[in-house]
This record gives sequence, structure tokens and C-alpha cells, in this order.
Amino acid sequence: AAGAPVVPTARSGYEGDVSTSSDADPAVMWFRRDLRLADNPALVSASEAGPVLPLFVLDPALWGPSGVSRRWYLTESLRSLDASLRRRRTSLSVVRGKPERQVVLAAQAVDATRVFVAEDFGPYGRERDERVEEALDAAGIELVRVGSPYAVAPGTVVNGSGKNYQVFTPFSRAWADIGWEEPCAAPTGGSWLELDSTVEIPTVDLPDGLEPPAAGEAAAAQRWADFVDADVTDYDDERDRPDHDRTSRMSTHLKYGEIHPRTILADLAGSGGKGRTTYRTEIAWREFYADVLFRRPDSARDYYKPEFARMSYASPGDDFDAWREGRTGFPIVDAGMRQLAASGWMHNRLRMITASFLVKDLHVEWQHGARHFLGLLADGDLASNNHGWQWVAGSGTDASPYFRIFNPTTQGKKFDPRGDYIRRWVPELADVADPHDPSPDDRDRVDYPHPLVDHKAERQEALDRYAEIKQ
Ligand code: FAD
Repeated sequence: AAGAPVVPTARSGYEGDVSTSSDADPAVMWFRRDLRLADNPALVSASEAGPVLPLFVLDPALWGPSGVSRRWYLTESLRSLDASLRRRRTSLSVVRGKPERQVVLAAQAVDATRVFVAEDFGPYGRERDERVEEALDAAGIELVRVGSPYAVAPGTVVNGSGKNYQVFTPFSRAWADIGWEEPCAAPTGGSWLELDSTVEIPTVDLPDGLEPPAAGEAAAAQRWADFVDADVTDYDDERDRPDHDRTSRMSTHLKYGEIHPRTILADLAGSGGKGRTTYRTEIAWREFYADVLFRRPDSARDYYKPEFARMSYASPGDDFDAWREGRTGFPIVDAGMRQLAASGWMHNRLRMITASFLVKDLHVEWQHGARHFLGLLADGDLASNNHGWQWVAGSGTDASPYFRIFNPTTQGKKFDPRGDYIRRWVPELADVADPHDPSPDDRDRVDYPHPLVDHKAERQEALDRYAEIKQ
């Protein structure tokens, strides 16, 4: 994706319904993690100001570390946004380079006095936006932050003493009490601007067999509507069953802002039911982790509870490779890891099981696993992923207690009772008598590995290591 940055210049004339107001101020709508037109307050504010330049900056600092699933998904999502804009007789102006340079050049090219964004609360996004704001400021242009990718912006939920919550349940109550705005419609009418020198949205080739979900605002809306129609009522019962595969799959749509959680929460409001309540709680977890990361940006890489840094860990070696490649000899773990590699997504129960196996059976630090996940997940999100890992590793805020160690075989039997999920992702086990715990003969016959470790012994080893830091 590298290549020379393109210096934007203005394209002559406006498309769409040209604003007739003489004091209309051109504005830039800089899309980032909000690749949609509907329910986008920053876009609404930008279009109230005057003609709008819809801009996306391919930032090498974000593109570089992204795995193929995320790159593919992002480019498809951009194509979809571009198509929506083209139906409005304009297009998405895409440029490449450092945002602090490209956004300023783009704004200057269309004589914009303001650049509108949805606020980014991640560690990189905050720093980037400060740099961009400074550069815009020097050029006499204002960066205007309107809304965020969350129903309640990170940093907003505080307790009676003005402090943030470290525990999820009180956070989620206070979060719900704050509440959120009603979704807003896509701007109608208005006028648009385009740059005349832009780059093509890159084409990303997917490895054979990778089947990411359809990207874009319309696909997100359709998926959400289908889930509400068919699956939300039973969500509470079904969400832990990877074999049934009835979760919403909204994570990637949410990651790229093709739908806003506010829209989802508005659809869930009003009618009760356990499925809807549980679903709302899961959205609250997403917001909780974003809040935690905002307060403790270091927790993206370091232990939230620093004492865990003192525990002894194994260096990632051959065992780590076997885990990554789905060759541990624990069928449920291998099924999860193979689903991740083959589809760029993994069921939540499997994220927990596979993460627990890496940290507590192989004693590898969570950061190695988190990096591997982020490299493959299309929904890879720093806050949810790294705090999901810290939850499993016991080192996060309100985490699962370290001594609660998943037995992978029992987990498989409980959540995939007939072994359908295992059979789907580990096809060599399709006809063995017990796909959860194949006999040594069956393993040899179908060429499936013997268990990499003795779970019982490693469980004890994990507890011993934990006891050392608790002393
Ligand atoms: P559903 O069950 O339909 O849930 C609905 C939505 O609620 C999800 O789309 C998501 O936005 C949110 N949600 C659900 N569970 C969680 C959770 N535990 N934490 C935060 N938000 C949640 N989620 C990501 O979006 N990106 C990640 O990179 C990510 N990495 C994870 C890593 C680990 C080790 C663990 C344990 C969890 C991780 N999760 C991550 C959370 C969760 O696994 C996914 O959000 C979920 O599997 C996505 O599938 P879905 O949309 O069908 O989920």
C-alpha cells in the first residue's frame, strides 16, 4: 500500500445541490472509524456548515500493521461508502500519507475552515488527532470533534466521587443512566466537494478460502435487521454455542463504524426480554473496555495489574507455533485457531478458550496471543481484544480470577456437545468416535496430533506460578 503521498488539489465546481448561501463555509468530513452516512453526527454537523468534502486518509501507520482481513475489510467498506456517495453524485476522496499533512492539504484545497471528525479515543488516534489539530491550527483551520464510535464517549462515566469505574457492573449501570442520543438520519440535500488528485482505494487479494463478511453500511444494516428478526430473542441461550453460530456478527461492522451502537441500542430499547438485555450488556462491555483503555492507554501493551509482570512465563517457541496453527492436539482449541485463520473471525467462547490455553497451559504472555489475534481478526480492536486477553489472563480490570482455569476438553463438551463445531474446523476428526478427546489410535489413524501438554499438570504449574506473585 505504500507509495508517494498524493497532494490534493480542489476539483472545480460542486456536485449535488449546490449551496446558494453566500457565507457557506466549505468543510471537510474526515471519515475514520465511522464509514457510514446514516446516524453520523459529525457528517450532519459538517453539512450544516456548507459544502462538504468527504475525505479518507490511508494512513501508513495504521495500514502497515493491519493483517490481510482488516485491510480487505477496510477497502471494501471504503468502496461501499464511495458507492453511497456516488448515488449522491459525489465520491469519497481518498488520499495517502501522514494525516497531519494530508488533512491540512485537503482542507486547504477546498478552502475549508473546519474539519469534522468523530472523536477517536484510542492511544494512537488521540496522538494523531493532536498532531493534526496542531497542523490545522497553524493553517487557521479548526478540528471539530462531534460524537465518537461509542454510545457514551470514553471518559464520561464516573462515580459519585468523579472517578472512573474499575468494575463492569456499576459501570454499565451508570453508563445506561447517562444514556445516548437518538440516531440521526443521513444528511439530505446539501452540496459536496471532491479532490481532483486522489488515490484509488487499494485492492487487497484474499488468501484462498478466506470468507470475510460483506462490508459496508447496507450490509451492516441488513445483518442487524436479520439478527433482530431471527436471533436476538434467543441470544442469551445461544450466544455461548459456537456450534449453532447464532451471534450477531456485528463486531466488524461496529469496528469500522458501518453502524453506530446508538442505532443498535435504539432498536433494542422499549421491549424487554433476556436476549435483548444480554445483548445490550455485551455492547456495554465494548464501551467499558474503550473507557478502560482511554484511562489507561498503557494497558494496551502492559499488564493492567502490574504484579502480573513479575510472574514467570515461557518464551513463545514451538508450542506457540502449534497454537497459532491449530495443532495443539486439543480439538476445541485447534478448531478455534483454525476458524480464526480461515475466516478472520472467531466465536467469543473460542476466543476465551484459546486465550486461556495459551496463557495458562502454555504459560505464554497474553501480549503474544493478542498480537496474533489482531493480525488475523477482521474485527481486531485494540480495546476489546487486549482487554479480552487481559480478562482471560486474570491481569485486567474486573478480570476472570487467575485461578479459574478452563479445561479445554470440558469446555468443548459443554459448549459444542455434539462436536459439530470441532468437526467443521478440524475435518480430520469428522468421523472419530469422540471428537473432544480422540483416542491415541484415532489420532494416529487420522493424523491428528497427540496433546501438546498434560492439561492437569499445566494447570498446577499455572497455579504455582500464580502463587509466587501472590506471596
Ligand atoms: P455478539 O455475541 O453478537 O456480541 C454483540 C457485540 O457486543 C459484539 O459485536 C461486540 O461489539 C460486543 N461484545 C460482545 N462480547 C464482547 C466482549 N467480551 N468484549 C467487548 N465487546 C463485546 N471483540 C471485538 O470486537 N474485537 C476484538 O478484537 C476482540 N477480541 C477479543 C479477544 C478475546 C481474547 C476475547 C475473549 C474477546 C474478544 N472480543 C473482541 C469480544 C468478542 O469475542 C467479540 O466481540 C465477539 O465474538 C464478536 O462476535 P459477534 O459480533 O457475533 O458478537
